[in-house]
Amino acid sequence: MILNKMKMPNLLLLKIFLFSNLIFFLNLSTQTNAQFINEINFDQNFKILGAEVISGYPLEGNLIIARTNPLNKVKVNNELIEIDQSGIFVIGFHRDEEKEILLTITEKKKILETFLYPLKRIYKVQRIDGLKQVMVSPKKETMDKINADREKVLNARSKKVLLGDFTSGFNWPLKGKITGVYGSQRILNGVPKSPHYGVDIAVPMGTPVYAPASGVISLADDLYYSGLTVILNHGLNVNSTFLHLSEIKVSIGDKVSRGQLIGLSGNTGRSTGPHLDWRIDWVGKRLDAQMLAGPIKY
Ligand SMILES: [Zn+2]
Repeated sequence: MILNKMKMPNLLLLKIFLFSNLIFFLNLSTQTNAQFINEINFDQNFKILGAEVISGYPLEGNLIIARTNPLNKVKVNNELIEIDQSGIFVIGFHRDEEKEILLTITEKKKILETFLYPLKRIYKVQRIDGLKQVMVSPKKETMDKINADREKVLNARSKKVLLGDFTSGFNWPLKGKITGVYGSQRILNGVPKSPHYGVDIAVPMGTPVYAPASGVISLADDLYYSGLTVILNHGLNVNSTFLHLSEIKVSIGDKVSRGQLIGLSGNTGRSTGPHLDWRIDWVGKRLDAQMLAGPIKY
């Protein structure tokens, strides 16, 4: 009896404490504070029926990594998604993601439904002036090259490869000052353009770029906008893209391990100074590489 009486206020205090932290957490996670988000890219309240969550939770730009029975079928909004033979599958969230996403796992004849409600984020507006006009509004001839490039990139990103080691996280391909973030709306020479999906890291020309996780090279080419570009398939339709390189050190089909040299940073294509632009995508959805790699550790 005495024990119970003693426990009650403590429990209440604990609840208030947890609740106030939750409010604090929700406030922060809807902001663009990617560094904070990554430290805890796991929400123990987020569960998937029929699967075990390894990391991630529904948030724009984020990636959920989960494991189910490899014999199960996993659908996102009624579209089958790939599962590794180990049962691992992933779900990524775009900028301005849908409010509600239905995830279904079919286990024999049982259908398990989980509704995902991705948290919204606030994005920056970034103005860049002084770009050569030809790079902002290309001439008609140039459009053919741009369209051909887009086709190459789409093909390269849809290549299927075996699951690599990204389920244990992404390393930074190099270290430096972050000068551009995921999702920012770019206004180039006063003209609003599509959002920026990469993380820009300002580094001196020729800085080595290392593979953030293992994979297979599916593109190594000179493209109009992104200059010397490399695409690395990590498996389960997750890819990294490296833009504006000064040199490419790999070829299509190369198997690359985590930490392997893939190129040197540069200033090729539509770029206003030497930097690396690193992007991650999943089935056409653009993810936040900075969030997935976490704070840069020196
Ligand atoms: Zn960029």
